[in-house]
Amino acid sequence: MKIITTPSDMQKTALALQQAGKLIGLVPTMGALHEGHLELIKLARAQSDVVVLSIFVNPTQFGPNEDFKEYPRDFERDRAFCATAGVDIIFRPEPEVMYETGYSIYVEPGALGQVLCGASRPGHFRGVLTVVAKLFNLALPEVAVFGQKDAQQLRLIEQMVRDLNFAIAIARAPIIRERDGLAKSSRNAYLSAAERRAALCLMQALRTARRLYREGERNAARIIGAMKAGLEPFPAACLDYIEIVDWNTLQRVERLAAPVLVALAVYIGKTRLIDNLILPEDGSSNLPD
Ligand code: AMP
Repeated sequence: MKIITTPSDMQKTALALQQAGKLIGLVPTMGALHEGHLELIKLARAQSDVVVLSIFVNPTQFGPNEDFKEYPRDFERDRAFCATAGVDIIFRPEPEVMYETGYSIYVEPGALGQVLCGASRPGHFRGVLTVVAKLFNLALPEVAVFGQKDAQQLRLIEQMVRDLNFAIAIARAPIIRERDGLAKSSRNAYLSAAERRAALCLMQALRTARRLYREGERNAARIIGAMKAGLEPFPAACLDYIEIVDWNTLQRVERLAAPVLVALAVYIGKTRLIDNLILPEDGSSNLPD
């Protein structure tokens, strides 16, 4: 397994691989790897000859009061994880080489980036799309894999690939969960034992939405109301948002007709967690029964 730290080495290596006829699969991450990331690696391996996994805690996607400094970083652990998972190249640049002095060009997400997490985290998706565009230009993948866990991010990347004409296929990985249903996240490491128990309220709210949908409920306000009521017994949980939006436009719907995204963000203590479900169910949420 090769470890690359500079953008120019990454691009040279990718060009050489391309010239040798190899198909590159890219898995962008912020490290602190877990089984969710492993699912992405498996998908990349199935669709390419060489798997590049990037580890980059991207400063431009964190707000001034967010957890950029605290975000878990353990390269030795991630390196061992990647070696076992069959990653071929780890690309691990420092912020200074990705954003050199005088850096000034950003990718604007437009309307899809203004809602849901984009409303709570101004500038977040501008940072995400900018770094993903850079990673695409450096790793030159045929396929790049993203998780349904970050549904809005996935939707925005698909839109960016379309609008900016990247010749890259986007593969989607389903949400990978802990045994009790909590969506795996590097940020789960922040949770105390009591918070860890309270964190189950996210997936329980999604199960409420699924149950009502299966019973025939199609009124978004009623489903959201029931989800919110289910959060009340959890004093550690502070709701950021619950929304039901059209899966294509990410705009709110009144009735659940075409495929919708049921998405929520909840603070458990200081930790902000997200989870989501597509309805009608497409299997991507892996919610337990
Ligand atoms: P992160 O390192 O958290 O920025 O995530 C890197 C990629 O892994 C993103 O495409 C995420 O959507 C994906 N990912 C993170 N957690 C999960 C999960 N529990 N299941 C599936 N994909 C995930």
